[in-house]
Amino acid sequence: MNPWSRVPLDGNNTHMPFRPNLSLIPRDRVAFDIDGVVADIMTTFLTLARERFDAGHHLRYEDITTFFLEDCLDLPPWIIAALIRELIDRPHELPVEPFPHAVPVLTRLARETPLLFVTARDRAEPITCWLNRTLAPVPPEAIRVLATGDPDAKIHYLKDHQVEFFVEDRLETCWLLADHGITPIVFAQPWNRLPHPFPEVSGWPELAGLLFEEGIL
Ligand SMILES: [Mg+2]
Repeated sequence: MNPWSRVPLDGNNTHMPFRPNLSLIPRDRVAFDIDGVVADIMTTFLTLARERFDAGHHLRYEDITTFFLEDCLDLPPWIIAALIRELIDRPHELPVEPFPHAVPVLTRLARETPLLFVTARDRAEPITCWLNRTLAPVPPEAIRVLATGDPDAKIHYLKDHQVEFFVEDRLETCWLLADHGITPIVFAQPWNRLPHPFPEVSGWPELAGLLFEEGIL
């Protein structure tokens, strides 16, 4: 039984993030998803749609309300497929930015413990290259990336590495992790605004508050 399954949602079923008044997360027991948590690939997606295909000028980040982009963005499916393919194959060659304050928080964390990233991408190399460049102050040997090829397979990698807390933006993955005793920390995004019982952060400054007593920002 995962501990969060017993946390009741509020009665009218609106979104009510659970902000635990918790002690700090053990810094050597936390790992991170990459896309939508560290790498802001969706901003790049919309930028490329405009610049390369002259499409989606009306679309905003907040319009991305589901992982199924065809369902929430009125873009031709072939454009969506082409851009996603590029973001998967060569994020290090695209203008992909980290989310605000991700770099200083991860840099601080890396002074104490190696960073572990677990992604559903099927190849680790391109995004590892992006991480090494983006997290320039962090020695490459302190950045570990595991590519599972399947979001549902993350659980096995996390268990193998004794991870207890995982920062993730995909709610389906959060539910699965919780079912297996790993506490998901939802990184709030327009595509995960369904009710959930998990701890949630609105961004890296808030996440830093769960990692460091004194905060760092
Ligand atoms: Mg993600």
